[in-house]
Amino acid sequence: MRRPILAANWKMHKTTEEAAAFVDAFLPQVKDANAVDIVLAPTFTAIDRVAKAIAGSNVALAAQNVNPEEKGAFTGEIAPGMLVEFGCAYTIVGHSERRALYGETDDFIAKKAAALFARDIRPIVCVGETLEEREADRTLEVVGGQIAGSLAEVPEARAEEVVVAYEPVWAIGTGKTATPEMAQEVHAAIRGQLRERFGDAADAIRIQYGGSVKPENVDSLMAQPDIDGALVGGAALDPDAFARIVCFEPAGDNA
Ligand code: PEP
Repeated sequence: MRRPILAANWKMHKTTEEAAAFVDAFLPQVKDANAVDIVLAPTFTAIDRVAKAIAGSNVALAAQNVNPEEKGAFTGEIAPGMLVEFGCAYTIVGHSERRALYGETDDFIAKKAAALFARDIRPIVCVGETLEEREADRTLEVVGGQIAGSLAEVPEARAEEVVVAYEPVWAIGTGKTATPEMAQEVHAAIRGQLRERFGDAADAIRIQYGGSVKPENVDSLMAQPDIDGALVGGAALDPDAFARIVCFEPAGDNA
């Protein structure tokens, strides 16, 4: 019912040359993966090169961040309209690294999501708890607060366009993955909250899992009923590994 969405978050990795080499190696491996949405989020400096390299393919472009303002005195920032120029279909907002390292709040993230909607770019809104919060049994409370705050300005009529990425902070870049059951529990809670807020549109909203997703664990994660995709950091730097993730085989799927 929900079309899976597999996204690569390259973070601050890859020169333009390295990005182009990735696309060259990656596209042939995923050219027949037409039942899923495939997304690459390069750095801003590589975005033009990647946009050109994927033109006409089944791979879409994302930015890793955006400023909610359209222009002005915001040194170092990038506006939504600038992303439109490159054909960005998605943009990641609220990644835990931006929340933790750059002090981004739910209110600011909500403004970014609203600004993206105004430019017809779909936000990939990241949420997730720290290890301390999980150990204090506060996961659902923390994630619930982030969902409420970060999605506060999503237009009701466009709820289906939102992508949520549940990324437990303790699993990002650490090699530790939430078990499929742990992830499913949080995904189901998120969907319940989305249903309260958006009604039946909640059934169409994709919820990605992120946190050390790799070829070895993607199948069991994708087999969970409320896991609709993955946001992948480290393993998505390698074209072969990310291609295998895109071509996941959920358990029980004989297709
Ligand atoms: C991420 O960057 O969002 C992420 C989940 O990273 P990794 O796959 O390396 O844990």
